[in-house]
Amino acid sequence: MKKILALATLLVLVACGGKKEEITKNEGTQKKEFSIFAVHLGKVFDSELPVYKKAEELTNVKLKGVASKNQTDQVQAYNLLLSSGNMPDIIAYELADGLEKLGSEGGLIPLEKLIDEHGPNIKAFWDKYPRYKKDAVAANGHIYMIPNYNDYYNIRASQGYFIRKDWLEKLGLEEPKTIEDFYNVLVAFKTKDPNGNGKADEVPFFSRANLPRKVLISLIDMFQVEPSWYEVNGKVVFGPSQEDYKKAIKEMAKWYKEGLIDQEIFTRGLGTRDFMLNNNIGGMTNDWFASTASYNEILNKSIEGFNFEAILPPEYNGKRITKNARATYMGGWGITFAAKDPIEIIKYFDFWYSEEGRRLWNFGIEGKEWELKDGKPKFTEYVLKNPDGKNPLTVIRESGAQYRLGMFQDGEYEKQWGGLASSKAIDLYTNNNAIAEPFPFLKYKETESREFIKIDSQLRNYIEEMAQKWLMGSSDIDKDWDSYLKRLNDIGLEKAEKIQQESYDRFMAN
Ligand code: CA
Repeated sequence: MKKILALATLLVLVACGGKKEEITKNEGTQKKEFSIFAVHLGKVFDSELPVYKKAEELTNVKLKGVASKNQTDQVQAYNLLLSSGNMPDIIAYELADGLEKLGSEGGLIPLEKLIDEHGPNIKAFWDKYPRYKKDAVAANGHIYMIPNYNDYYNIRASQGYFIRKDWLEKLGLEEPKTIEDFYNVLVAFKTKDPNGNGKADEVPFFSRANLPRKVLISLIDMFQVEPSWYEVNGKVVFGPSQEDYKKAIKEMAKWYKEGLIDQEIFTRGLGTRDFMLNNNIGGMTNDWFASTASYNEILNKSIEGFNFEAILPPEYNGKRITKNARATYMGGWGITFAAKDPIEIIKYFDFWYSEEGRRLWNFGIEGKEWELKDGKPKFTEYVLKNPDGKNPLTVIRESGAQYRLGMFQDGEYEKQWGGLASSKAIDLYTNNNAIAEPFPFLKYKETESREFIKIDSQLRNYIEEMAQKWLMGSSDIDKDWDSYLKRLNDIGLEKAEKIQQESYDRFMAN
């Protein structure tokens, strides 16, 4: 009888294909427990969250968080961990270069052979997407961490331009296309009282960026430049030394002077978007799709006709492109030299790249957070219209889903919780190829890394200081430009460019 049952089970397994087999294989074997260091969004890894309980059921592996509950700053906690010398089995961390440094010093073990032999799902994933594999390979050719991937090919778009379309309509204006159009529209917002209260209280362009660098990004993006490194036809350039950057700052300084840009843009901070939209004074911004699109539903009851909609970036050099692209990954996890059973750990890592694992991590628990509809996971009402009024992302995260470790995000998850307006915005940008290729996180060798970080941080401080002066009109960019370039070179721009170019070429050749 027993034999027949076993045979029947085997047949079922064969019929179901490999995945089921692997999961069932663990049944009856002893539960394994591994320690993990992980802090994400101020929370230490919690093995009691439903997603990880479920994974434990399926894999027989339990993870136990080692950071103490009051360690909410992951960088601090990480440094403390390393200095304690008490290594857990697994480390998850947001800064991939930190993990790779630890790896090259022997703190993490190379994973490439383990993945080859025991990680079929990860292998298949990398075979399918070679670009993602590049992100995993350190400068010395070893793989020390599995990145936590974004669904780059499906939702590269993360943020874009939003405008009060009802104001355009009210003033009889067309949707702006060129930078000149954008300028004219903002002038009209400023001078023609689109909110109809008889006062010139409109703030045509605002940004809720909370750091000078982020404010700068939000302003010069219209000219397709960035206050950092990017690539143009295979050549790595430092944005703030480019002619287009100069042009961008000059034009934005003019807009600022004319009151088209929030006069408190450098100091108003994270509450800006709420303030500008709730008070019916903000005209245009550049911000995240999902959260910005959600204002329509909230405000169209209190502000008549309120319609804040995504539009494509202004056309510049014949293209309508934003450089605000989502990175291909953020952070990752690896196995330390102290781990007793790396094979079991890599199998566990691999589980999250199976269809079942990926759904579990992205959507939470089947039947509670999601249901299968037409073969695809769809969030339930419990998530989308939570009875306690929690927003969808909070509900999902409470289950343990989307906790950054070393997984592969599914863009569907964001499209679903962001709702229709957000999907529409993301599709607008995606379908029009309006997102620039993001510059990769480069991999540095030890000596390069030290030198580059030193130069780059000085460059950043200096360009931010100058940009702020120019934008707010306390100095003139035409007058300063030559001495500014000289100063960049004195800091070491040329050396940094060389390191960047070599690292970039190495990355692309990998
Ligand atoms: Ca007004």
